[in-house]
Amino acid sequence: MEIRKDTAIKKKSINQVPGYRNFPMVPRVVFGRGSFDQLSEILMPNRKHSDAPFIFLVDDVFEGTALIKRIPLIFNDQLIFISADEEPKTEQVDYLVKRIRTDFNELPSGIVGIGGGTLLDLSKAVSIMLTNRGSAADYQGWDLVHKKSIYHVGIPTISGTGAEVSRTTVLLGPKMKLGINSDHTTFSQVVLDPDLTKGVEKTQWFYTGMDCFIHCIESLSGTYLNAFSESYGEKALDLCKEVYLGELSPEASRAKLMMASWHGGMSIAYSQVGVAHALSYGLSYLLGVKHGIGNCLVFQHLEEFYPEGVALFKLMKDKHQIQLPTNICANLNDSDFDTMINVAMGMEPLWENALGLNWKKVITPEKLKSIYKKI
Ligand code: NAD
Ligand code: ZN
Repeated sequence: MEIRKDTAIKKKSINQVPGYRNFPMVPRVVFGRGSFDQLSEILMPNRKHSDAPFIFLVDDVFEGTALIKRIPLIFNDQLIFISADEEPKTEQVDYLVKRIRTDFNELPSGIVGIGGGTLLDLSKAVSIMLTNRGSAADYQGWDLVHKKSIYHVGIPTISGTGAEVSRTTVLLGPKMKLGINSDHTTFSQVVLDPDLTKGVEKTQWFYTGMDCFIHCIESLSGTYLNAFSESYGEKALDLCKEVYLGELSPEASRAKLMMASWHGGMSIAYSQVGVAHALSYGLSYLLGVKHGIGNCLVFQHLEEFYPEGVALFKLMKDKHQIQLPTNICANLNDSDFDTMINVAMGMEPLWENALGLNWKKVITPEKLKSIYKKI
């Protein structure tokens, strides 16, 4: 389970210096249609020498497509196709690290992740685990990584999660679903080329884009909000409205959603998500429901917490004629509901952000069960 305790709460230390978070940002980013073709030039100065390869982790949806021919493979660079059908796992990270260590005598020059949140998170985790011993599962948590990761580049091909800008990589481990949250997780370089999102299928475009919309609503309605988060959250929300309710050209829509994802991710960096994410983690933990769709399934029933956000969500869903699956929880027993409720209730920072310190007065197991039963 992912619980982010790296919140924006102002904590006073013993000498009364405020404990504001000091988080890293992506140091280099290129944006623009076709910017993917600058990759060769971007990587070149970061090549240590001809025996230290770049490893490209690429969503297998691109296998056999023209994009693959544009990947600047030279020397002993390696391209590994990976399926995004399931969310990333710690054992998958361990396997990839072992394979890279076996195939090469020395550390690669870098890792390049090409794909959605799944591939971006895998790439971040592999770049960390190439310099840190043990299993990726040992580093799930907050600030457990002490050795610098290797140079790593994120190239999103679908927009919404904000994984391209965040300091976490969310992994399913043997015991829990939890991120490796660290200063070494954040990408060294990001390439934002909106044309890469051209092939995304409509429902997936909606689900992953709604992840961004829900990040904005949860961040902007939260008690952790500060001017920093608000400035990014408001911009991201405006962009989501333009994309999902406006009449943009496909090019403008792709470019704006890519920037919405970026700003949405920046907004939660200094604040936190809320009720939808807490409940969605319960669904994901018990039923393996993927992040984007899980958030949508929950969010549609959260009028009590986010009335304006839910009204907007329904407008967007109707405009794009998206049919959400129903009866997901129809055949669950009491013990299943308890599992999901325990997972959701365990997300304390999310509830505290959503409802304040006294959230337990509002959120009861019965209330959560009544929401799950509607899904
Ligand atoms: P995804 O990476 O799971 O991909 C969703 C689907 O879209 C896949 O079938 C994939 O093959 C396909 N796809 C991607 N790009 C495509 C393209 N250009 N054309 C055609 N198909 C394409 O989707 P996602 O929603 O971006 O990522 C979800 C993951 O992100 C989850 O594992 C979640 O935990 C993680 N996440 C991470 C963060 C973070 O900050 N690290 C934040 C939110 C979510
Ligand atoms: Zn999310």
